[in-house]
Amino acid sequence: MFALAARRLGYRVHTLAPEHDTPTGQIADVELFAPYDDLDKVRQFARGVDVVTFEFENVPAATAAAAAEHALVRPSGRALEIAQHRIREKAFLVRHGLPVAPFAEVRTAHDLETAVSQVGRPSVLKTAALGYDGKGQARLDGGVDPHDAWRTLGEREAILERFVDLEREISVIGARGVDGGWSYFGPIDNAHRNHILDVSTAPSDVRPPVAAQAIDATKAVMDALEYIGILCIEFFVTRDGQLLINELAPRPHNSGHLTFDACRTSQFEQQLRAICGLPLGSPDLLQPAAMANLLGELWSAGTPHWAAALSVPNVKLHLYGKSQARLGRKMGHLTALASSTAEARRMVLTARDALTSGHR
Ligand code: AMP
Repeated sequence: MFALAARRLGYRVHTLAPEHDTPTGQIADVELFAPYDDLDKVRQFARGVDVVTFEFENVPAATAAAAAEHALVRPSGRALEIAQHRIREKAFLVRHGLPVAPFAEVRTAHDLETAVSQVGRPSVLKTAALGYDGKGQARLDGGVDPHDAWRTLGEREAILERFVDLEREISVIGARGVDGGWSYFGPIDNAHRNHILDVSTAPSDVRPPVAAQAIDATKAVMDALEYIGILCIEFFVTRDGQLLINELAPRPHNSGHLTFDACRTSQFEQQLRAICGLPLGSPDLLQPAAMANLLGELWSAGTPHWAAALSVPNVKLHLYGKSQARLGRKMGHLTALASSTAEARRMVLTARDALTSGHR
């Protein structure tokens, strides 16, 4: 989606990935196939372009540094390093006075016991690195032995975080340009299923003071990092009205996919403008919108009935060109625009149901 936005503005796109025939590779001018830690290939790649960016934060710091020898890297390797490691991320947020759920660091069995007595239960143990969509997480409810839970995570460096009573989850997607210019999308309401984003709707009807706090926090994070590009912050809103930062995503985010159809400038075009030193575009939301993810399980009884979904008025289909439909894999999404978020949500869900029932 970023590459499409870049192409529309006349840019050429090169991509490097540890797989062949990736969604970006299918439309890029040059597709390089190499693991992220093949620094010679990374340097070769960077020599061929002006600006390097990421669609995935778990790229090693050494890769960003190697790319930076030959091209501008935006956002910087420092932003990636913070966002890809939960302990560094929490430490950064706490240092800047930003609100997070109570947590403790776990590196040893002794730390784990201290963490359980500090944080209490219910809580959730999360690996510090390489966790997403609920992967690398274990709940600590009353009866669970923390050592067993930690063993299931491979006894890797982790945090223990209080499980908070959620009223909702929201995100704000900020954009910051080379000249410090800034704009944002959101807040967007996000509903998860099995820890994976399921449906996003905008505009959010979260209380205005909470929305303002989320927007301010996003700006504070981006200013502190002297960030260039798109950064999404996922927030928890607790039942007692507190706003907490869940995590940072230093890239265009799934909750912003609706901006493609619903905003004057999409998060992808905004990312392009930011990293190429262009003025930011208007992020105005043109109509209430809802986005529903299409996961691999939709293919379990064969190819979904695309025509049935497309017969729902105002629904747009996006497929990413991934060849294998695995369970939980994000294969595409649907976006609906309507006169209210409730109506957009109803339409997008009707369209998604029609994919597997064949009629609506
Ligand atoms: P994460 O990978 O940390 O974003 O977690 C995935 C999802 O699990 C979140 O979007 C929440 O729905 C849920 N979750 C994670 N941590 C907590 C928490 N401390 N309290 C309540 N729900 C949580």
